[in-house]
Amino acid sequence: MAFEKEKFWEDVKAAETIGIAGHIRPDGDCVGSTLGLYCYIRDNFGKEPEVFLEEVPKAFEFIEGADRVVTGYPNREPMDLFIALDCGDEGRLGKAMEYAKSAKKAYCIDHHATSSGFMENNLVIPDSAATAQILYTLFEDDKIGKGAAEALYLGIVHDTGVFKHSCTTRETMEIAGALLDHGVSSSRIIDGTFYEKTYLQNQILGRCLMESILCLDGKVIFSSIDRKIINLYGLGPADTEGIIDQLRVTKGVEVAILIRELTPRSWRVSMRSCEIVDVSKICAMFGGGGHVRAAGATMSGSRRDVINNLTTEIEKQLEAWKKDRAED
Ligand code: AMP
Ligand code: MN
Ligand code: MN
Repeated sequence: MAFEKEKFWEDVKAAETIGIAGHIRPDGDCVGSTLGLYCYIRDNFGKEPEVFLEEVPKAFEFIEGADRVVTGYPNREPMDLFIALDCGDEGRLGKAMEYAKSAKKAYCIDHHATSSGFMENNLVIPDSAATAQILYTLFEDDKIGKGAAEALYLGIVHDTGVFKHSCTTRETMEIAGALLDHGVSSSRIIDGTFYEKTYLQNQILGRCLMESILCLDGKVIFSSIDRKIINLYGLGPADTEGIIDQLRVTKGVEVAILIRELTPRSWRVSMRSCEIVDVSKICAMFGGGGHVRAAGATMSGSRRDVINNLTTEIEKQLEAWKKDRAED
């Protein structure tokens, strides 16, 4: 069903019970958009939606409403309204999918290129830098409080890599500017949640860079973190955030790959590209998805299998690109 803004707010107004959830292994946009919507509804409709997330990474705990997030996906009576944010398919929503299935009304608001339109009502804008950016366009500016503004700003900062990824547009900057007018402390959010690293994060970053390997004539860089290392350092998902971005900015590199072993022979894949390769297409081929320049998937096999499968697809895209250029 097509998304209608007025209808969405009517449904919010009419609902007695509202659930909001984001994707598994939540990132800045996931936490920022869920808590941004939570704060906005709380402040303007006088009701308390429940926010369901797998966890709230430590660095985001100061965002308003973070202390009210429900983890562990407990059983709930069917809700009047359920809203999935920053999440494009059933698998990524995890156990929160049960709430979506039983809810009287269900919405998805998302910006992933591979978003499948899996809810009753879907608002998917792949050109939008962040789900938090889409939410801003649904909100009335003068009804945004400081809590909601900080949450949305967090989402935009993280999904744009602090306004540097190619998804950053004039609209992104204008929305971020408008959010600053609501009292957001940009340095607290940018330094405190994006650049600041724990000693452990820096150690593992150093290790990944040192052990990284270049292939396809220096066009691809990859690094891997296996179970032995994860156990040795006691690494959680947040501890490896940002490593892929440092790999990507290696001179001459078009695609960066970081793989983390989740369980024996099952790998969490992160991919980033610079200008040519559509990594969302490659990740979608292996059951994942994402954006043209940033995507992920979970793949099984040996480290070598996973890297070979990915580089084969990258090579195909690079060859096709070269051929196109030669013909022009
Ligand atoms: P990551 O490398 O985990 O930071 O993910 C990069 C981007 O791709 C993020 O926007 C994720 O939300 C998205 N993404 C990662 N994994 C998947 C997946 N399995 N399906 C769809 N989108 C994904
Ligand atoms: Mn996300
Ligand atoms: Mn996002």
